[in-house]
Amino acid sequence: MSAKLLEGRPIAERIKQELRLEIQRRGIQPVLSSILVGENGGAESYLRAQKKLSESLGISYQFHKLNTDTSESALIEFIQKLNNDKKINGIILQMPLPAHIDGRKMSNYILPEKDVEGMHPANIGKLLFNQAKIIPCTAAAVMELISSTSVDLYGKDVVVVGHSEIVGKPLALLLLEKLATVTVCHIGTSKRGKLEEHLRRAEVLIVAVGKPNLIKGPWVREGSIVIDVGINRVGDKIVGDVEFDQAAKRASWITPVPGGVGPLTATLLMRNLIESAKP
Ligand code: NDP
Repeated sequence: MSAKLLEGRPIAERIKQELRLEIQRRGIQPVLSSILVGENGGAESYLRAQKKLSESLGISYQFHKLNTDTSESALIEFIQKLNNDKKINGIILQMPLPAHIDGRKMSNYILPEKDVEGMHPANIGKLLFNQAKIIPCTAAAVMELISSTSVDLYGKDVVVVGHSEIVGKPLALLLLEKLATVTVCHIGTSKRGKLEEHLRRAEVLIVAVGKPNLIKGPWVREGSIVIDVGINRVGDKIVGDVEFDQAAKRASWITPVPGGVGPLTATLLMRNLIESAKP
């Protein structure tokens, strides 16, 4: 392997230290409130990790578990109660919600200034105008990883694979703000057999699809930066979307999976919370 590993943990540790100092300096105790509707074992272990991280930074963490049969109107009422509580700085509605609840619609009831995931239309709108204080965490994690390489994005050919609302689309906006030349590939690109052609040009490649080995090693441009957001369980292993060993022979930087983007996202959620706690 010739690429250097782009690991998320050391960057997360630096940001956590900055956040601890900021909380101490401002003498605040931010409050994060998390709502889970129904049973979801996976989400519950994620929430325990979120609680542990919050408390290690000096953030108070509230967990609300509502019954599976909670109606949309009852959930809206609950969200509004948290919106009106001045002590609460951030609200997270854990997805997925039970089938009878429209998750997109519910998220829009969270006040934009308490939407620490940065997915409220008002926050996405601010991202478009480069005025966002709260940035979707996974996209922000990718930007932190690129920034840690000290490579200037100005005019660079950057290819994003995946155009989801939580990763690909906000990322494209953040990259444009750096004046990168951004290409966003998606299922249409693959179906037309054009993915390789775009990837071969990529000085920076970011992949967020959720399909193991979608990106073949030989497609990776020599000397490029490769950020693999994908998380896929294959047997008892977690892998990304990129053929890691082959890609690592060609790239100059590459994220491991696990250990690249993942460890940074939860920390950046906390950074959004502390941003929300600013007067
Ligand atoms: P989505 O399923 O919402 O989006 C996947 C995207 O990939 C869509 O734009 C889809 O296009 C596109 N796509 C699907 N198949 C292909 C293909 N063959 N070629 C090109 N594009 C394709 O997923 P998310 O954005 O939520 O997540 C993507 C991956 O990132 C997942 O593995 C997820 O687990 C991981 N993830 C990791 C995080 C982390 O912290 N490390 C955080 C968030 C996500 P279309 O919709 O048109 O089919």
